[in-house]
Amino acid sequence: ILTLRSACSPYRARCMEGQPQELRNPAAMENGTEPCGEERPSEAQETTVTEGAAKIAFPSANEVFYNPVQEFNRDLTCAVITEFARVQLAAKGIQIKVPGEKDVPKVVVNLSEQEEEKAELKEGANLAPGDQPRTAAVGEICEEGLRVLEGLAASGLRSIRFAREVPGLQSVVANDASARAVDLMCRNVQLNGVAHLVHPRQADARMLMYQHQKASERFDVIDLDPYGSPAPFLDAAVQAVSEGGLLCVTCTDMAVLAGNSGETCYSKYGAMALKSRACHEMALRIVLHSLDLRANCYQRFVVPLLSVSADFYVRVFVRVFTGQAKVKASASKQALVFQCVGCGTFHLQRLGKALGASGGRVKFSAACGPPVAPECGHCGQRHQLGGPLWAEPIHDLDFVGRVLEAVSTNPGRFHTSERIRGVLSVVTEELPDVPLYYALDQLSSTVRCSTPSLLQLRSALLHAGFRVSLSHACKNAVKTDAPSSALWDIMRCWEKVCPVKRERLSESSPAFRILSVEPRLQANFTIRDDANPSSRQRGLKRFQANPEANWGPRPRARPGGKAAGEAMEERRRLHQNKRKEPAEDPVQRAARLKTFPCKRFKEGTCQHGDQCCYSHSSPTPEDTAEVAPGDRPETPSQNPPGPGVATGPGVD
Ligand SMILES: [Zn+2]
Ligand SMILES: [Zn+2]
Repeated sequence: ILTLRSACSPYRARCMEGQPQELRNPAAMENGTEPCGEERPSEAQETTVTEGAAKIAFPSANEVFYNPVQEFNRDLTCAVITEFARVQLAAKGIQIKVPGEKDVPKVVVNLSEQEEEKAELKEGANLAPGDQPRTAAVGEICEEGLRVLEGLAASGLRSIRFAREVPGLQSVVANDASARAVDLMCRNVQLNGVAHLVHPRQADARMLMYQHQKASERFDVIDLDPYGSPAPFLDAAVQAVSEGGLLCVTCTDMAVLAGNSGETCYSKYGAMALKSRACHEMALRIVLHSLDLRANCYQRFVVPLLSVSADFYVRVFVRVFTGQAKVKASASKQALVFQCVGCGTFHLQRLGKALGASGGRVKFSAACGPPVAPECGHCGQRHQLGGPLWAEPIHDLDFVGRVLEAVSTNPGRFHTSERIRGVLSVVTEELPDVPLYYALDQLSSTVRCSTPSLLQLRSALLHAGFRVSLSHACKNAVKTDAPSSALWDIMRCWEKVCPVKRERLSESSPAFRILSVEPRLQANFTIRDDANPSSRQRGLKRFQANPEANWGPRPRARPGGKAAGEAMEERRRLHQNKRKEPAEDPVQRAARLKTFPCKRFKEGTCQHGDQCCYSHSSPTPEDTAEVAPGDRPETPSQNPPGPGVATGPGVD
């Protein structure tokens, strides 16, 4: 546990003040009742923090209630729900008023053509010629507006921000299973003057959602932002979202999703994760697969609007629809991944085939495969099998374009607008029909040569007639529709420019095998103008470095309180000074920590269960390193770079 003051920026520290306030004792409450009743004052130190238009109080002894790094997640969510509300309410003839936007009626085109027709019909019904359009502003109840549920609301910050910053809401149910959290939430709702809109509830989020399965009682927006994995909540969530409604899900269990423990990933998400340089996008696609599969059980399916990998988590925004016929297409939207253990080349294998038949009908059949031979065609090694994962587009580019435009033209609305603009700009540049990617340095280190610049490699792909893009999920991603044979040909040509000493390569190495084949393609590395992505030319804030010293998911609330937190902080500081390497990728760090056995687990005293950052599997002979939980182990010695490896020119 960190103390907030040391963990956050000076900017935010100024917004906070310690102030003693009344704190109600947790009262015994019935499942699902509205608990904001009696007042039982007690003495406690409190801290308040301001984010967006909300001011949140929480006990100073327990800062787990506020994680400043997630501000980007909350800002982005406000932006997404606002655009969703704009579209949904336009269909009812209501125009939303967004703070900071000029009062010019925006032309709203609907997400789908079907809905467009509906919108015209309804507009005609609701709006007599010459009438002023009805409007909805923030902080007001909009009777025909969105019903929102935040399933795991903790301090209520997110829900209060929705109420104060997103127009067109009918109600926000802010639910948490913990009496302490609900208690805090009630006070924060009062503090922010949003009691008319935000309704705190104390219930198991699953039970609450199961009680709202009936079509008339569903929520238009459900936001799940749990500690760790949302997996236990997904079955209930896909049933409690209204038709075409919006489901927003955060996953912070990135070690699991990024291939550290494929079996655990399977048990939670129904897919094997692989260790891969494309692990961030793979994580997004595994979550989308899991959501679609669970929706399929109830004749429903998901349509992704936006899928973002940021900091230490992934976040997906999907719409949920119902349709027995369309659910049949879901199998062919998922794919297994074959990934070579030698050279990293991957191939996708769809789980089903959907073919257009006469009369606009679709014919479904079993897929044919596999797409690879038992041994990799490039390096002769074996393949690992991952997935199934979502193989269709992970964003609705039209919708993302709206969010991007709204945030770009109104940057004062959010503290993290600049970053939202950068990330969404790269999202709109991603090739929508090409799942996954290679990392630039992965390609060059596989053939043991120097690394070309991203511009050189992208130019070579474009000269050869292929498409290429970045990925918002990886700084030096090469996402391309070029077949792997063409990609390796380009690397073979690059090696001719910067030769590798063959005598230093083992004859069984992927580098030796790949380089002993002559390229059939003559790569041209002359820089092309269109090889430089627009988001890069414009210098947008696209890939953010770690924003603070000990950033990452906060641990659950623990009884240790502040003293324990300070001791931990002190220890972290000591250990941090010993670290010489630059900040590590959070996912890789989490995966690395998982390779150490948990000492407390061996003693039978570990309280963290699945959430523990160390391994709970029985130690194998090579697992000899031991660390005390809470201690940061020294980075294990990195493998020395292989022969012939040189650091290339700037990557990005
Ligand atoms: Zn290979
Ligand atoms: Zn443990």
